[in-house]
Amino acid sequence: MQREIPSIRVCHRCGGCGKKQEFVNSGKFRVNANGSKVDVWLIYRCKKCKHSWNLTVFERISPSKIPPELYALFLANDEDTALRYGNDPAFLKRNHAERKE
Ligand SMILES: [Zn+2]
Repeated sequence: MQREIPSIRVCHRCGGCGKKQEFVNSGKFRVNANGSKVDVWLIYRCKKCKHSWNLTVFERISPSKIPPELYALFLANDEDTALRYGNDPAFLKRNHAERKE
């Protein structure tokens, strides 16, 4: 059983359940290099069906713009880094995450 990252609780419409559900921070990042650009997401999962929802950390950014030590943390799925984003209201707002009461 994977441990839950204690983040701000958020809701999002789940494509698996077909309705709004609570999503939890998986603590995993996804890094996708596409030519000279990189996308970085933090993956959340539906609490009910585990359907994934990728929250954008960086979108089509030049890898040189990401500090190498931060990039390494994404690749290592660093839990403290996942926790930092999961508790960053600006990050959640950018991704249209609804706060769960
Ligand atoms: Zn679901």
